[in-house]
Amino acid sequence: MKPEPILKVAVAVPLSRLFDYLPPADGPVPAVGSRVRVGFGRRRLTGLVLAHADESDIGQTKLRRCDAVLDETPLIDDESLWLLRFTSEYYHHPVGEVVATALPALLRQGQPLYPVLECVAATAAGRETDLESLARRAPKQAELLQALVDAGDDGLDAALLTETLPHWRRALAPLSARGLALRLETRAEDREPAAAPDGPPPPDLNDAQAAAIARIAGGAGVPGGFAAYLLDGVTGSGKTEVYLRLIEDVIRDGRQVLVLVPEIGLTPQLVGRFRARLGIEPALLHSGLSDLERLSAWRRARSGSAALVVGTRSAVFTPLANPGLIVVDEEHDPSFKQQEGLHYSARDLAIARANRRGIPVVLGSATPSLEMLKHCRDDNYTHLVLPERAGDALPPVLSLVDTNRFPADEGLSEPVRAAIAAHLANGGQVLLFLNRRGFAPTLICAACGHVAGCRRCDARMTVHARAGELRCHHCGAARRLETDCEECKAPARALGAGTERLEEALARAFPSRSVTRIDSDSIARKGAMGDALAAAAAGSADILVGTQMLSKGHHFPKLTLVGVVDADQGLFGTDFRADERLAQSIVQVAGRAGREQRRGEVLIQTAFPAHPFWRRLLTDGYAGVSRDALAEREATHWPPHSRLALLRATAHRQSDAHGFLAAARRQAVRLAPTGVEVLGPVDAAMARKAGRYRAQLLFRSQGRQPLHALLRQLRPWLEDLRQARRVRWSVDVDPIDTI
Ligand code: ADP
Ligand code: ZN
Repeated sequence: MKPEPILKVAVAVPLSRLFDYLPPADGPVPAVGSRVRVGFGRRRLTGLVLAHADESDIGQTKLRRCDAVLDETPLIDDESLWLLRFTSEYYHHPVGEVVATALPALLRQGQPLYPVLECVAATAAGRETDLESLARRAPKQAELLQALVDAGDDGLDAALLTETLPHWRRALAPLSARGLALRLETRAEDREPAAAPDGPPPPDLNDAQAAAIARIAGGAGVPGGFAAYLLDGVTGSGKTEVYLRLIEDVIRDGRQVLVLVPEIGLTPQLVGRFRARLGIEPALLHSGLSDLERLSAWRRARSGSAALVVGTRSAVFTPLANPGLIVVDEEHDPSFKQQEGLHYSARDLAIARANRRGIPVVLGSATPSLEMLKHCRDDNYTHLVLPERAGDALPPVLSLVDTNRFPADEGLSEPVRAAIAAHLANGGQVLLFLNRRGFAPTLICAACGHVAGCRRCDARMTVHARAGELRCHHCGAARRLETDCEECKAPARALGAGTERLEEALARAFPSRSVTRIDSDSIARKGAMGDALAAAAAGSADILVGTQMLSKGHHFPKLTLVGVVDADQGLFGTDFRADERLAQSIVQVAGRAGREQRRGEVLIQTAFPAHPFWRRLLTDGYAGVSRDALAEREATHWPPHSRLALLRATAHRQSDAHGFLAAARRQAVRLAPTGVEVLGPVDAAMARKAGRYRAQLLFRSQGRQPLHALLRQLRPWLEDLRQARRVRWSVDVDPIDTI
């Protein structure tokens, strides 16, 4: 008889190792890629079998058995297992937590791939029952039956019912005894929604588009084999059209396409375009789904029945039966990097995955990251440029407004006001971009100069006038807005402008026009974002005021003027990426202007019009800024001309955070292969946030290998360190935010 294999199981705990178990006493032996239920300390956890082994460090007699095998056949295929392991090794993060990040919630919780759904429905007899007389005798039963009758033939989902009628089970018993209602159990199924192409016919490709497609597809369909392409095209240059052609091609060939989009890029507009052109219903994976919807999309991707899978960051982990192409849209977008827990970059994992699978990956952006530009310069990736807007649209014209000459106290300078009036009179639409919500960022006392601060963060409170509150945008703390200084009781003044104040100033300046504000405060109500965007796209909103969430991806046909209200926020940023980020956000929002016939105008308010950054941006555009920035990064040894990792720690006491990092530093210096610099520890830019002190240690090296060799040894050492118990800490490889 073959000896029992030892199962190497990944469990979601913050330890960088696998745990050994034996199969359940009465079998079966779970295959690699199957989930098991295991006892872990006193808890019961869901784990994933990553390997079988012959031996264990723990004596055979001390090994625990799993309680149950949750998947008869492997849930996760070899390629996805590889991706999980790669992610764990590259980001130096416990593999069990990687698995937990990658799996849909229901699977993580141990639910079957096809969960059993419980629902309740009224029978034909139930529908004919006299509800009024029932209500007199048994009001609870009548209430339930009424709800079931209203719900129709499909009945109601048990979980939903529990939310509205918590005690429905007690009322159901007598109803089902009398044959008036039924409880049903069904296996979740995936609907394969049919859709037919019904859009306008595709435009004829222009030369640049045709050349890009020819490079990728070579005339004979999208080939196999790994290759990475940077599709560098100004906004409106027809990048999406290029994706569509490639996707059509791959799908026709019977293979699947994964499209990754930024968090706010998954708009109904984009999905509608895919649907209309390709005549298929993409499987969508984003944060707005219910757990069951997400699982269904995941299954359709895994089985291969979804030809097109479109999702945000975590969709990169979705198993695909038969992938032929991966597209990353707006590859420069910071939302591809997860900033808590597992600090992974979905863009970078997409490239690794394409490489492993041997398929092409297309990375599109109007403002490519310096990382991708350097890869192209080094000939690792192919640089494809779409230099002009598709169709007849012309590029927008950018100019500066000097706020020293033309003050913009409430966000609105005189030249911008005049331009708004002119564009509106011409039938255009206007967008004002201000990446700061609330009424004003500062409440200051006119007498003593006291600034209202957050009690738990090193940060100012933002004035939210409409809500009558001061709010901290970092920890969520709020208190009542007083018009007097908290310290000396003299009158306090709101300084600077946020979207709320700007909205009011605009309403006063243009009383006969509609002003629509779009930021996370104004769209808190479900559906509000969709309504506002629909109004914006239809052109019935004259003036739009918005934060980052309005700056990308949207297509507003009538928009002709964009005002960048406060560009100086990014001009003196302390992060080495400040220039790159500022240029990206301005170029992206500028790209909203003049997408159709009328030429767009972009006005940028700044108090530093002579800053060299502006000259470069206005004369050479993003390409010029990125060239300068790359040269500077080379001279100063910052990424992409070096590799970074950050070790962050937070604690209730500052000395604990620093003590932990100092110990980490000593150990790192002991271990460090030549060529890894260890910088710090230093306080984070905001040293206290939500009552916790934050500090960090930065590792920098020329090449990737020495850095990873160091982290591989350092991480397990830190997990065993006593001082680690007093802090929360995390490793961030390729951090996009280092201050
Ligand atoms: P991007 O994704 O680069 O912002 P899109 O693919 O959305 O650009 O194209 C911008 C607009 O130009 C869309 O309305 C699109 O239908 C149109 N368009 C794209 N390619 C062409 C073309 N070759 N000829 C005419 N119009 C085009
Ligand atoms: Zn705070």
